[in-house]
Amino acid sequence: MDELLRTPVQFVKGIGPKRAEALRSVGVETLEDLLYHIPRRYLDRSTICSIGDAPSGREVTVVGRVVSFSRVPSVRGGKERLEMLLEDDTGVLRCIWFGGIKFVERALEVGKSVMVSGTVERDGFYGRKMIHPDVEEFSEEERHQLHTGRVVPVYPSSSEMKRVRLDSRGLRRVLAPVLEEVVPHIKDPLPEEVLARCGLMSLPEALRSVHFPESVRRAEEARRRLAFDDFFYLELLLAQRYRGRRERKEGISFPEVGDLVPELIRRLPFPLTKAQRRVMREIWKDMKSPYQMNRLLQGDVGSGKTLVALMTMLIAVANGYQAALMAPTEVLAEQHYITVRSLLEELGVRVGLLIGGMGPSQRKLMLRAIELGEVQIVVGTHALIQEDVKFKDLGVVVIDEQHRFGVVQRLKLRRKGSSPDVLVMTATPIPRTLGLTLYGDLDVSVLDEMPPGRRPVKTVWRPQSRRPQVLAFVREQVRQGHQAYIVYPLVEESEKVDLEAAVQAYEKLQRELPDLRLALLHGRMRGDEKEEVMRAFKEGRVDVLVSTTVIEVGVDVPNATVMVVEHAERFGLAQLHQLRGRVGRGEAQSYCILLTGERLSDEARERILTMVRTNDGFEIAEKDLELRGPGEFMGTRQSGLPEFRTAHLIRDSDLLPAARREAFLLVERDPDLREHPLLREELGRRFRETSLIDVG
Ligand code: ADP
Ligand code: MG
Repeated sequence: MDELLRTPVQFVKGIGPKRAEALRSVGVETLEDLLYHIPRRYLDRSTICSIGDAPSGREVTVVGRVVSFSRVPSVRGGKERLEMLLEDDTGVLRCIWFGGIKFVERALEVGKSVMVSGTVERDGFYGRKMIHPDVEEFSEEERHQLHTGRVVPVYPSSSEMKRVRLDSRGLRRVLAPVLEEVVPHIKDPLPEEVLARCGLMSLPEALRSVHFPESVRRAEEARRRLAFDDFFYLELLLAQRYRGRRERKEGISFPEVGDLVPELIRRLPFPLTKAQRRVMREIWKDMKSPYQMNRLLQGDVGSGKTLVALMTMLIAVANGYQAALMAPTEVLAEQHYITVRSLLEELGVRVGLLIGGMGPSQRKLMLRAIELGEVQIVVGTHALIQEDVKFKDLGVVVIDEQHRFGVVQRLKLRRKGSSPDVLVMTATPIPRTLGLTLYGDLDVSVLDEMPPGRRPVKTVWRPQSRRPQVLAFVREQVRQGHQAYIVYPLVEESEKVDLEAAVQAYEKLQRELPDLRLALLHGRMRGDEKEEVMRAFKEGRVDVLVSTTVIEVGVDVPNATVMVVEHAERFGLAQLHQLRGRVGRGEAQSYCILLTGERLSDEARERILTMVRTNDGFEIAEKDLELRGPGEFMGTRQSGLPEFRTAHLIRDSDLLPAARREAFLLVERDPDLREHPLLREELGRRFRETSLIDVG
């Protein structure tokens, strides 16, 4: 079976080296890929109607003779278009194309019979028209073959594919015999009972129906079965990993909470929230147990995750272990370092910083201190997972901002100590759908309560022309004793140019707000310079902090009530939400002002409107995912998210709970899949090449 599916397409009947090459351009290399090269959509040709009977507003297929076709030049800067007149005994239909003109033209010839599928609209001229119909040549003897008289598939194509006549029509020709030959040999790895419980069709049936369905509805059912598989196998993998960790009991069992945590709590000017206490109980339960903690801490910006991280690390330190806190960027690591040190040094805890940008001798010293255990808490970036970092006794790892960390990186770090406990924190809430797939092997804790006295931040959108009023507002807030941020975007590609822009903007602001105390903060500054600016702002010696996005995460000044974002259209949703999270931390009403240019892309407008509409981090994350797609959202390379063959993470997300439930159930009963050899084989095939399979 394995062999058969892995046959290179070149050896499939009707495909030679040339066509195989073209197929590669759409990602098809093996017979299996070909079977899973599923249609983009379907045309319902089960009823072909005559032009005179074609109802408006519905998708239909008609057959007729080409009367004429011609290119119509653009009017007033519009697009050139191709128009074709088609007739049968009952009427005339005007067909119009604005794109792909050359390709359509090639398929046309006056007097020839063609078949067009599309939505009929009223037309002032000829009565009926179709915009951008699918067109195919038609011969009488074909009437009952693959291409007509039924629901036919339309495949994603490329110009290479068209060149070797593997358009939808060509693919149908190739696929029909393949399905007939291969599908009977395919066995469904999913147990009958799973199919029955979830109302799914069998795999052979799904593969057949996804290409040549009896109805459009049947096609969708088939596609859903294949999408279910995508989720199911991923969940199967996660279920095995989850179970493995529980079985092995190779984690550290910390004997006691120790006295550092109570000491820290005693020194805080406020009590812990209920949510923080609950989450700490959950974490402590994991830490004292013999299996390795692998917990995800979700909580919106400002919910108090940092404190939870600190307490978690203090438990390890109190038990004589080291702890590591990992941030996605150096700037963030530095900021964490400042926070952690200011809170913990008075408890006598030794805190160190390890980042890529350190000088070699400094780095060497730090590495040595880590190895000897002289440093108890290490704050750093990816540099922490490099091979030459050795801990004396790493007990806990806290990873902040998980969405920028891949699954793989997480696992690499876990191997650093014997088996340190891992707490993953995310400030940008992970959309529920993604959370389930990506972190399905983690236990989850949620900080679902904000510290008391917070008021939702008011968010407004203002065009550049209103800048004077915005600055007046900033001045007024400062007069009332508050502070403000003004943030400029920094695009990494041209860091230097942007920096100059930020410096210039700063100088301009100084002229515009001569009565206020301004300070500039940017990523190119030395660590101690940054620290000094931050301290001045924190202590109220600076009214307005002008900054590039370095303050995105981690800065905490409750007296700041205004966040002005310049060129807000250049920021992603997650970033904007993070920035807004810098205000609204005290009891006074806070404001987030999004300044943009006059002209925005649709997507940018959508982002801004989302920010204005809601403060809910989950809603924002879902929207972000929708706008950017999962790959981008997670940062493609780092996501560690396997590519799904069929499933669409959002559109098909309703399948996920069932897939997850069935997978976990199955692994509970048959941990090694000994009784399900086909499943085991398929799992191996799917994840052989991803890094996911061997970690765990
Ligand atoms: P997050 O990292 O989740 O975005 P932080 O940990 O930065 O949030 O906390 C946000 C602010 O809330 C900080 O000023 C912090 O000192 C404060 N804070 C944390 N816990 C509490 C609490 N229980 N009561 C009041 N304020 C709190
Ligand atoms: Mg934080």
